[in-house]
Amino acid sequence: MTAPAALLDRSPASGGCAESPVLRERGQREVFCGLTGIVWLHRKMQDAFFLVVGSRTCAHLIQSAAGVMIFAEPRFGTAIMEEKDLAGLTDANEELDRVVGRLLERRPDIKLLFLVGSCPSEVIKLDLARAAGRLNDIHAPHTRVLNYSGSGIETTFTQGEDACLAALVPQMPTLSAADPARLLIVGALPDVVEDQFRRLFAQMGIQHVDALPARRIEDLPGVGPDRGAQRLEALFPFGAEGTTDWLHSAAKAFGVDEMLFRSVVAPGRERAARALERFRPALDGKSIFFFPDSQLEIPLARFLSRELGMVPLEVGTPYLHRPHLSRELPLLPSATVLSEGQDVDRQLDRCRAVRPDLSVCGLGLANPLEMEGLTTKWSIELVFSPVHGFDQAADLAELFARPMNRKGRLSPSIRGAA
Ligand code: SF4
Repeated sequence: MTAPAALLDRSPASGGCAESPVLRERGQREVFCGLTGIVWLHRKMQDAFFLVVGSRTCAHLIQSAAGVMIFAEPRFGTAIMEEKDLAGLTDANEELDRVVGRLLERRPDIKLLFLVGSCPSEVIKLDLARAAGRLNDIHAPHTRVLNYSGSGIETTFTQGEDACLAALVPQMPTLSAADPARLLIVGALPDVVEDQFRRLFAQMGIQHVDALPARRIEDLPGVGPDRGAQRLEALFPFGAEGTTDWLHSAAKAFGVDEMLFRSVVAPGRERAARALERFRPALDGKSIFFFPDSQLEIPLARFLSRELGMVPLEVGTPYLHRPHLSRELPLLPSATVLSEGQDVDRQLDRCRAVRPDLSVCGLGLANPLEMEGLTTKWSIELVFSPVHGFDQAADLAELFARPMNRKGRLSPSIRGAA
């Protein structure tokens, strides 16, 4: 979820998987659609509401994926568009305007409303950008109305978050050339993790730190001038190594003294490294296979291989963004198979052929693989749990160690029963 970024003066990436061929597959996918991102985005953006313009299927997905959160006053809902609305697009637009009007009347606390597109044909025919513009004219300035697509045809899983953030970018105020340089953290980090990073940056003397998305729309950060921003290359902040590299990238860009940087990160890095040692016995030397879901697969495989001794066999990702992963790929063992996209049956065959100690996959694949005696980890937990930063490194390792330990505990009884 969090944007990568790396040291500005490193030599060009090479070695590891930097030059490895990528198996590109365009077949049937077993991946959540981009609507799923609402489940963590709505927690982060406290005055936003996500109105899915979709079918009953979309409503069920988001209700069941969000499960426990329904007990709280929800900040998402579904405007259900069905066949009857096909009678005329005018009707569908009027219906949408009515739903939004009722919602905003009832919930004056909503300052930002996202119309989230989906894939039923009734919705595809609606021009949601136009609808958002029309509704924005009606409800501004009290509520801003934006739109993006979470459709399963266009997006998988975390791509819905990317689309949401992209919708926010044109709303970001432009800074002038005279404004001091600001550091922007891109990606919906849990508040607790964002606050930890802010404290570390403050200790280094980096005072101007913003986050996209902001917790409230009025805090939407500025960019510029000319909407300009420079991406800092870094490892993703997973584990002691990744987090150090991610912080270092910002420190160098902001001219932080190297000795000061080291003294600020040393306690956290050592805490993380020590905490990770607890999980080595369960994970060292164990093989792992990633099915594509979150776009975090490559950074996670790097973390597991370098800090816990796991052996990545195949690392699948919905989309392999080479520039964003330019620091990650050289750190993966060169024997790792990289795959992009999915042809689920072929990928299952490859997984069965290598029989990894642990397979990371969506809920739909986990049960069949467990039935075949393979151990699985649900990828969705990796985006719902705080996993970035020094103080979450052990929690991240535990997410992988738990299924291995469970398997270890179950095995004797299974053998005994056989
Ligand atoms: Fe299904 Fe498409 Fe709705 Fe996602 S957006 S729940 S894939 S119908």
